[in-house]
Amino acid sequence: MITTRTPQTASDRAAGPLALDLDDVTVGYRGIPAVRSLTLEIRSGERLVLTGPSGCGKSTVLRALAGLLPPQSGEVRADGEPVRSTSRDRAMVFQEDALLPWRTVRSNVVLALGLRGVPRERRRPDADRWLEEVGLDGYAGHLPRELSGGMRQRVQLARGLAGAPRAVFMDEPFGALDAQTRATMQALLLRTLDAHPATVVFVTHDVAEAVLLGHRVAVMGRRGEPMRALVDVPDDPAGRAAALAAVQAALTSSREEWTQ
Ligand code: ADP
Ligand code: MG
Repeated sequence: MITTRTPQTASDRAAGPLALDLDDVTVGYRGIPAVRSLTLEIRSGERLVLTGPSGCGKSTVLRALAGLLPPQSGEVRADGEPVRSTSRDRAMVFQEDALLPWRTVRSNVVLALGLRGVPRERRRPDADRWLEEVGLDGYAGHLPRELSGGMRQRVQLARGLAGAPRAVFMDEPFGALDAQTRATMQALLLRTLDAHPATVVFVTHDVAEAVLLGHRVAVMGRRGEPMRALVDVPDDPAGRAAALAAVQAALTSSREEWTQ
């Protein structure tokens, strides 16, 4: 049984987190591939972290998973069905401030709930419940510019997870935050996902963050190269330390080639 404080429809509950599948995917811009022949299976409920040098195609992979960018060849699938467009099942959370500045915090979350098909009368109470969940009760009526960077990122998290998406794609969401706020947000994300399970693909440059959040860490290589390394992150401290070293080594070799 799933116990969530945020109401979901019966069909959402039955469906659960999405299994995602990149099958020999080549994807890029104006006919020029940015990512070539990428094959990767992401299990239902898994947190997969994508890392790699700047420009290697991490954001491009997220866009393909979200259905924002169609592959030139190969296929992206969600629960075995080809992804051809965006869907309310799959949500994006960005690093940059993607909040609408003229709308209140609540109204930004209400808008996302509307896009996910939540009935009108449920949007406001749901939004307030999500704001409470990310520690922003009392700020629903504020405008984004009246909040700190960390608080705005909490709103983005609420907005991304509200409406119980079955998969969430997060593009360096904590990249602009100071170390302490970042640690708080990482803990908040893990707590929130415990209560509202979803498959997560999370992009970060930060190796410690990758190993903290990921069940697996995929290290992407040079532009056009398939995956450099796929590292399992065990639950015990020694296993985590070994995973961190493996990710660091793959990243270093990838960066060195990148800058040659
Ligand atoms: P990352 O997120 O790993 O830094 P991106 O996925 O943003 O990398 O970019 C991968 C490659 O695709 C880069 O070479 C980048 O210049 C190119 N690229 C990204 N976005 C666009 C775009 N909108 N138009 C053309 N090329 C792009
Ligand atoms: Mg990027």
